[in-house]
Amino acid sequence: MFPPKHGFLRPLFLCLIACATVFLLSSCAKPRVFHQSKWLMGTVVEITWIGTSEHPNTIKKAYHAIQAIDALMNPDSPGSDLARLNARAGQGFVTVSPLTCTVIREGLRIWRETGGAFDISLFPLTHLWGFDTKKPHLPPLKAIRATLREVGSEKITCDPAGHRARLERKGMGLDLGGIAKGFAVDRAAGVLHSNGIHDFIVNAGGDLYCGGRHIRRDWRIGIQDPDHPQAIIASLPLHDRAIATSGDYENYFIKDKIRYHHILDPATGFPARGLRSVSVLAKRTMEADALATALFVMGKEKATRWLKRHPAYSAVLVDDALHVFASTSLKGLIKWEKRFKNNVSYF
Ligand code: ADP
Ligand code: MG
Repeated sequence: MFPPKHGFLRPLFLCLIACATVFLLSSCAKPRVFHQSKWLMGTVVEITWIGTSEHPNTIKKAYHAIQAIDALMNPDSPGSDLARLNARAGQGFVTVSPLTCTVIREGLRIWRETGGAFDISLFPLTHLWGFDTKKPHLPPLKAIRATLREVGSEKITCDPAGHRARLERKGMGLDLGGIAKGFAVDRAAGVLHSNGIHDFIVNAGGDLYCGGRHIRRDWRIGIQDPDHPQAIIASLPLHDRAIATSGDYENYFIKDKIRYHHILDPATGFPARGLRSVSVLAKRTMEADALATALFVMGKEKATRWLKRHPAYSAVLVDDALHVFASTSLKGLIKWEKRFKNNVSYF
């Protein structure tokens, strides 16, 4: 078949050929890796996805979902649910978004399940240490003790039907810094799924969800070396699963050769000791995020015992001596870096 040489049929014919070529090219287009990153919730949020086109609107919506969580749950953002709740501590119920209620209720559940190691009522304490600012510092012991009296998740009420929450005592405050990022990642993952993108990673500063697979293989995720955060101690394949890490290298200061970091033990009011990092694998990023913080606070012995009783989660713990402890379920999956190979015990 040749294009007609003259007349109105010729442009029509050429147009048809062009359309067919575009159609054929797009239907044969090979899947590629796309990537975007934005600074949100105090960290870099990267979205990586596999597809044949960029899906700009879907990616925009996924980032909007994260921004919406930040706007509700950032205590420093005037008018946010958290700012209003903290300002009205001791003055009755405050109306909050159902999303905020979901995170508060999940925070309370994890507080109960971890014997209080994870505690969303820690705001007065993180504020006293200045970990919510750029200038953290060592507070006087007396002030730490006094502030601990304002802490305790038993003094939080969240009414699921009414979407209202209440902090019982004046001086109390909520800090969702150990859980909200994970929830935001799950919300973005939900947007990608419901818009037809199934192979992706949403990574909010190391708290991440891997949907589906990379091209022809699972996604591979590295676990940071707490001493050299640019390097990794190991990598592992992930498929429709979340991983989150809490480490003492994220936000800290050193005074008299002691490292003071932002993961606080609600029992002492001081940074939790014994571990350098905890990575948790879970179905949802919100759970992985909060549990990484909780298990860090528990320390190696309690954390490994807890994990044995909760086989739905797996974890990798690195202690002060850079010894690594990993769930048996990860045996054979994790590829350890040379330096760590002989330094791993499974539990
Ligand atoms: P990152 O935010 O660096 O990923 P985490 O997920 O471990 O690290 O969260 C640490 C944040 O959680 C702190 O900055 C603080 O806001 C809050 N936090 C600190 N200690 C606790 C705790 N014991 N329970 C709940 N939240 C905590
Ligand atoms: Mg966390």
